[in-house]
Amino acid sequence: MINLKNALADNIRRDIEALSNFNQTPGAGITRLVFTDEEIEARKYIKFRMNEIGLVVREDAIGNIFGKLKGSHDKSSPVWTGSHIDTVLNAGQFDGMAGVVAGIEAVRLIKESGCSNKRDIEVVVFTSEEPTRFGKGCLGSRALAGELTLNDIKNLKDDLGQSLEDVLLQRGYNINEFNKVKKELGEVHSFVELHIEQGAVLEDTGSKVGIVTAISAPTDIRVTVNGVQQHAGATPMYMRKDPLTASSEIILELEKMARASKNISTVVTVGMFDAFPGASNVIPGKTSFSIDLRSTDFEEKCKIINSLNQYTGYISSLRNVEITTEIICNEKPEKADTYIIDAIKNSCIEKNIKYNIMHSGAYHDSMFVAHFAPFGMIFVPSKNGISHNMEEWTDYEDIALGTDILSGILLNLSNEIK
Ligand SMILES: [Zn+2]
Repeated sequence: MINLKNALADNIRRDIEALSNFNQTPGAGITRLVFTDEEIEARKYIKFRMNEIGLVVREDAIGNIFGKLKGSHDKSSPVWTGSHIDTVLNAGQFDGMAGVVAGIEAVRLIKESGCSNKRDIEVVVFTSEEPTRFGKGCLGSRALAGELTLNDIKNLKDDLGQSLEDVLLQRGYNINEFNKVKKELGEVHSFVELHIEQGAVLEDTGSKVGIVTAISAPTDIRVTVNGVQQHAGATPMYMRKDPLTASSEIILELEKMARASKNISTVVTVGMFDAFPGASNVIPGKTSFSIDLRSTDFEEKCKIINSLNQYTGYISSLRNVEITTEIICNEKPEKADTYIIDAIKNSCIEKNIKYNIMHSGAYHDSMFVAHFAPFGMIFVPSKNGISHNMEEWTDYEDIALGTDILSGILLNLSNEIK
C-alpha cells in the first residue's frame, strides 16, 4: 500500500528541488530575481504543474499567476491560496516556494478526493514579494490591492536602470491591462497562505504548525544628525557638537521604548549607520541611520514615532545638533480572520498536531491581500529559525503536514456559501 503522507512529501520535494534548479547563483544558494531568465523558467514550471493537475491558468498584467480549480457555483467569489517564487540574494529554497507548491498540492488533493467545491479555488503566485530587484516588495499583491500605480511601474528601476515597465513589456505582459489587476473588497472570498516561519518559535515550542493571528507591519525611518566636524584632540568636550554621541542616545532610547512596549511583537532595529567623514581622529560632522520599527499594533508604532520626535527635539537642544527624521513608510499591521484561525486550530486538534498561536514578525503578500479579503496563514517550522540564507531548511514531511491542513481549510472555505 502506498503511504499517502509520504507520497505528498515526495511531490513537494520534487517541485521544490525542480524550482531550485532555476538559479542565478548555482553553488552559492538560490538567487532568482523577478523576471530574470531563471525566474521565467520557474514560472513555466509552475504553470506546467498547474496545467498537469487540470487547473485553468492565466496571468495578469503584472505577472501574478492564477491556477483555478473550477467550483460548482459560477457566481461566487473564489478562495485563494499561494505565495511567491522570487528570492533574495543567495537565498534558501523554501521561502515562498513552500507556499506555492503546498497550494498546488492542496488543490490536487481536493481534486483527487472527489469532494466538490462550490467556490473556485485559485493558487496564486504573486509577482516579486522580495524587494531585491526593484527595491520595493510585494509588487504583485500591492497591485492587486490597488496600491501600486502605473507611475510606480514606470519609476521603479533595477540596478541596470531598467524600469519595471520596460521589463514587463520585454517579457510580453500587457501593461494596457494594468487597470484590470486591482481587486475590490468582496471580489475574493478569502486567502490562506502557507509559509515557512523564518524564526525559531515553532522549533522552540515543539510545534509543527504556527497559526498566525496578525502580521507585524514595518515602519522605515531615516534619521540624519548634523553637528560640527572638528579635531578630535584640539576640541574640548564642552565645545563639541557631536552627531554620533547624539545618535547613540537616540538609538538607546528607542531600544528602551521598544522594550517597554506591552506588545511582544514591537521591535526596533538600527541596521545601517554612517558617520562622516569616518576617521578615528575626527569628530564626525554628520551621521545618518535607519530605523526599522515593527509591531502588530499600529497605535503602538505611532506612539513610539511620537516619542521619538519628542526625544530628538530634546537631544537636539541638549547637544546643539540638528536632527531630521524622515518616515519612508509606515505600513498598517493586519489581523488574520478569526474564522480561518479557528478552522486551522480545529484541524490541528482533529489531526492531533501540536500548534502554536503566534504573530508574524516578517511581512508577506497576505498583508496586502488583507486590504481586499480576509486572510489566514499557516506557518511550518524553519530549522534553527534560519531564513534568507542558503542554510534555510524545512522538512518535507512538515510542509506535507501543513499542506494537508491547508487542503481541508480551502475545501471548507470553498463550500462556505450561505
Ligand atoms: Zn516569503
